[in-house]
Amino acid sequence: MTHIITSICVRDRGCIDVCPVECMVPGQPINEWPWIYIDPDTCIDCGACVPECPFAAIFPEDEVPAAYTAKGGEYIVNVGLTGHFEGTNHHGGKIVLDNARQLEAGEVLDLTADIKPNYDFFKSGPGYSAKDQDQGM
Ligand code: SF4
Ligand code: SF4
Repeated sequence: MTHIITSICVRDRGCIDVCPVECMVPGQPINEWPWIYIDPDTCIDCGACVPECPFAAIFPEDEVPAAYTAKGGEYIVNVGLTGHFEGTNHHGGKIVLDNARQLEAGEVLDLTADIKPNYDFFKSGPGYSAKDQDQGM
């Protein structure tokens, strides 16, 4: 199995620092690959990344919620969205995302749709080569 980062990820990057097998890759280009992606062949399911995420965006694959109920105010980031998110990441760097949407309290989302892009990123997407384009956001 593997852990999965879902569309609640706003690229805070706290998770990347703790992964013992360095299998988390920031997606590039951001408009096509907006999240951090976990290499399913390398992830050892240690769970160390889960408590590091301030947005609770990471789940074991078999626990990704099919009915995530929004608290309200949090953002999702995904291909095709056009809303703006700005924040500060784990290292003090600026995050600016233009493919975000702020959720309303009580909205229900199926986050299992976010599982496939994680696999696709390494199978048919840029995979580890995205690290070459990484500029800290
Ligand atoms: S800590 Fe959470 S929000 Fe930040 S990059 Fe990791 S999964 Fe995304
Ligand atoms: S579960 Fe462990 S090995 Fe897998 S991505 Fe998270 S920190 Fe890395």
